[in-house]
Amino acid sequence: MIIVMQSKVTDEQLHAVEDKLRDMGMQPHVSRGIERTVVGAIGDERVIDIESLEALHGVEKVVRVMKPYKIVARESHEKSTTVRVRDIVIGGQSLQVIAGPCSVETDAQMRAAAQGVAAAGCRLMRAGAFKPRTSPYAFQGLGIEGLEMFKAAASEYNLPIVTELMDVRMLDTFLSHEVDVIQIGTRNMQNFDLLKEVGRTHTPVILKRGLSATISEWLMAAEYIAAGGNHNIIFCERGVRTYEDAYRNMLDVTAIPVLKRETHMPVIIDPSHAGGKSWMVPALARAAVAAGADGLLVEMHPMPEQAWSDADQALSPEELAGLMGELQAIAAVLGRGL
Ligand code: PEP
Ligand code: MN
Repeated sequence: MIIVMQSKVTDEQLHAVEDKLRDMGMQPHVSRGIERTVVGAIGDERVIDIESLEALHGVEKVVRVMKPYKIVARESHEKSTTVRVRDIVIGGQSLQVIAGPCSVETDAQMRAAAQGVAAAGCRLMRAGAFKPRTSPYAFQGLGIEGLEMFKAAASEYNLPIVTELMDVRMLDTFLSHEVDVIQIGTRNMQNFDLLKEVGRTHTPVILKRGLSATISEWLMAAEYIAAGGNHNIIFCERGVRTYEDAYRNMLDVTAIPVLKRETHMPVIIDPSHAGGKSWMVPALARAAVAAGADGLLVEMHPMPEQAWSDADQALSPEELAGLMGELQAIAAVLGRGL
């Protein structure tokens, strides 16, 4: 059961709801987002008197949510949620393509990449300064120095930055450097302590799907973030591991309509880490848009063959620009823009 409060709810009104729930033998859990404040009622729901709760000041509605995930469930919020990054809306009528290199490497590489992202018409930029690599001997990212390089390059084109947080100890650094969107990578989808901490911020979060996570596990992971009060969550499907070895991962296009039905949060697709080869990226990206994705996260490098990580899957700036044109045509058929 969740109690959705009116947008201008006061602390007193909230406390009255919490007290009422305790009187009924329920444990209240408050999730205070920027736009919505939601109180979860934990315990035996049969004892809840819905009418007496709805009569309290500040209560918008009481919803019985049958799913184990509550705040992220569409059952609790029929209308699709949009996530705002500066003046950019994710999950609205316009699709958002977030592009950039796998890793931050050098100032010159980042400047050229930012130029390519902006020239292709993308409104947000991605790059990793802290890299989760399979081998401890592979390039691990430039760390804080990389974050600063990224910020400097992206700000030349007024592009908000999307970058991966791996370690909870770096969260304050991400916040003080004003990272616009925190990416939680595949390998950390169920790092619950990390999820709880980003849940305490209001910074938008891209939550990538775990390598072999079910959709329900993924939704529960998002609920950890939402439960803390951060309702700015974007789901990102990036391919799952299967028996097939002809490509890096299998893009689960089926997850798009399923997620759009199960959650009101935006859903984007990463075709780069799915296919693992640049030549597959346009086909997967087109399929994702046709299936209803709200956007894409795409790897692009000014000189793909020289990339320090994921060189095989990086598009060139020209290929990214070409792809944007194709996606525009598909989006238009669906009544969406790019
Ligand atoms: C990435 O986006 O650079 C990345 C490491 O992705 P994933 O977590 O999907 O492997
Ligand atoms: Mn990568």
